[in-house]
Amino acid sequence: MGLVVMHGKSRSYPILVCDACGEKIDDWQKAVVSWNAAIDATMSSVSIYHKVRCDPHERYWMQLDQYIPWLLSNHNWGEEHISQDGKKLITIEVPKPLAL
Ligand SMILES: [Zn+2]
Repeated sequence: MGLVVMHGKSRSYPILVCDACGEKIDDWQKAVVSWNAAIDATMSSVSIYHKVRCDPHERYWMQLDQYIPWLLSNHNWGEEHISQDGKKLITIEVPKPLAL
């Protein structure tokens, strides 16, 4: 399931759902992203798992806090920088507060 929108009585809201157990992932620090299921030679689908508890330990994976900036930077959100030690960094600014 991965990314899901829940529909409550007064509002809808996005959540992460583990692709292994089907339960909500409450804490972003407990999520891992994996992309081992090839759709074709040019792309793979992404799955999201509870880190440690449900992670199938597949070959290609990333922590959620690394994956989201990578995703946003590939959709023209953020600015790339090179750190003093030569690492590529991405700065993402939230343009406005979220109205929840
Ligand atoms: Zn799980």
